Amino acid sequence: MKVYFDMDGVLTLLDNLLEENRKQDETRQDVIDRLSQERGHHWIFENAPTSPRLPEFREFMRKLKQKGHEVEILTSLGLENPDHEGIPGRIEGKKLWLGKNLGSELLDGVITKLNMVHSCEIKGSFGSPNAVLIDDQLHPNISLFDKNGGKGVHYKIEKHQSVLRELIKELL
Ligand SMILES: [Mg+2]
Repeated sequence: MKVYFDMDGVLTLLDNLLEENRKQDETRQDVIDRLSQERGHHWIFENAPTSPRLPEFREFMRKLKQKGHEVEILTSLGLENPDHEGIPGRIEGKKLWLGKNLGSELLDGVITKLNMVHSCEIKGSFGSPNAVLIDDQLHPNISLFDKNGGKGVHYKIEKHQSVLRELIKELL
């Protein structure tokens, strides 16, 4: 199986950073847009708080590899326009985060590919009968992934234990 890990909301707690920096009346998107302008497009992704559950995910990734599964990252840059000027900066920010927090998994070949798509709608096209996506967004991410034949797993940190237990049962 190919197992795709979403980043924000699964490996990172990006929303905590956005909430901390939110000014009154700003929407989530307003905060992203403002911080990207003020500090550069890389900033929010580079500084996304690490999930306290990351060590368990790292161990799970290593076991997946041992079992012969392929582990890849599938993350969205949150931009509707595929030619947006912010794309290189956002990719850079995500790569910096991954190097800092999953550097040994990248070096050891546990994570074999980084798929960075400009918008979450594209994640669905990675769905196939041999693919699993662990993602915190039901719509459109998981619903489109499932529609293409994949198995989407809806993750929320509040139900980490039960989701991981289920994944371990199915894949290890
Ligand atoms: Mg997410």
